[in-house]
Amino acid sequence: MSYPSGIIAPQPLRHPEKAHRPDNPIPRKPDWLRVKAPGSPEYQATRRLMRELQLNTVCEEAACPNIGECWKQGHATVMILGRVCTRACTFCNVATGRPDLLDPHEPERVAQAVAALGLSHVVVTSVDRDDLGDGGAGHFAQTITAIRAAAPGTTIEVLTPDFLHKEGALETVVAAKPDVFNHNLETVPRLYAEVRPGARYFHSLRLLDQVKRHDPAMFTKSGIMVGLGEDKAEVLQVMDDLRAAEVDFLTIGQYLQPTPKHHAIARFVTPDEFLSYRNFALGKGFLLASASPLTRSSYHAGDDFARLRAARAAKLAAG
Ligand code: SF4
Repeated sequence: MSYPSGIIAPQPLRHPEKAHRPDNPIPRKPDWLRVKAPGSPEYQATRRLMRELQLNTVCEEAACPNIGECWKQGHATVMILGRVCTRACTFCNVATGRPDLLDPHEPERVAQAVAALGLSHVVVTSVDRDDLGDGGAGHFAQTITAIRAAAPGTTIEVLTPDFLHKEGALETVVAAKPDVFNHNLETVPRLYAEVRPGARYFHSLRLLDQVKRHDPAMFTKSGIMVGLGEDKAEVLQVMDDLRAAEVDFLTIGQYLQPTPKHHAIARFVTPDEFLSYRNFALGKGFLLASASPLTRSSYHAGDDFARLRAARAAKLAAG
């Protein structure tokens, strides 16, 4: 259907499944969560490149507060497999509904962007694709291979979906040899039914454990948001669970509510509490832990990867 000029066609709802949920008012952010509006020339250049190459980013789709800072340095986290997710997590701003057709040329375009940005480290993530037989694992593998060919010096981090009921998917991604395998637990197990209804806590944990079993040298990473209604003891339990799965790197950041239809913010966790979580995590044996109000799984991922490598080397040297 076409619309006469001057009339804007109705936009599809980004979150049709949330349309009938009651509104949760969004509380005012404390000072420690305030960031500068993006707009630097470097930010604009990153944005233009993403548009030219028709790439989606989780930075934009998730309305990430760090976009001004990250994109100024060309650090965009590319989101492959389309813009529409087949899950309906109540915290997430990525559009949900009928997924896009798979674009077979996307891996090459991602690789082109990585080469053009001259990145030393790149994070590739995706929407969840329950509709695909392999959950999109083959597309992840092709993207890793394409980046290796176009930018051999770039280290690669994947932030994958959980590949629930996708036999062999995890193995496909691990075989493509990313440097870091990241899969976020997102929250404590008690809140899964409400926050991540399509996912299973112990499945996600097992996925991370399996990565280490297939390739003990591969760095593994996971993250949670706080401020969703969890308590401290539950966060510490998640840390223990992740250490039991030999996960190397933990990220913890403040949950921010994208719209009134999303999960309500329970509270803003203070910077001191984040510092305490970081210290607990290091005490429990993570090689690296990043915990701050604005921490996101791919925030400062390049610098963190260098620290991760150094921390492993130091641990090995200490015997
Ligand atoms: S923190 Fe991650 S998602 Fe947010 S802008 Fe930076 S790279 Fe993008």
